[in-house]
Amino acid sequence: MTKFCPKCGSAELNYLPWLGEIYVCRNCGYQGALVIEDGELAREIREKHFEVTEEDTKAELKGSQRRKG
Ligand SMILES: [Zn+2]
Repeated sequence: MTKFCPKCGSAELNYLPWLGEIYVCRNCGYQGALVIEDGELAREIREKHFEVTEEDTKAELKGSQRRKG
């Protein structure tokens, strides 16, 4: 079954058995034993994650500029 990162919803996980049941996300750097095996849930997390990331990026690009309207 595919496993997903609980933080960003990415399936880009490395399994590190020598550290115990530890997964490392190649996308966001998450490390932990908790992973998601529910594709639907992963997709929701992914959408939220990218939403936030996008907002952050926009804010950075805009700097101190104010929104019009
Ligand atoms: Zn991740």
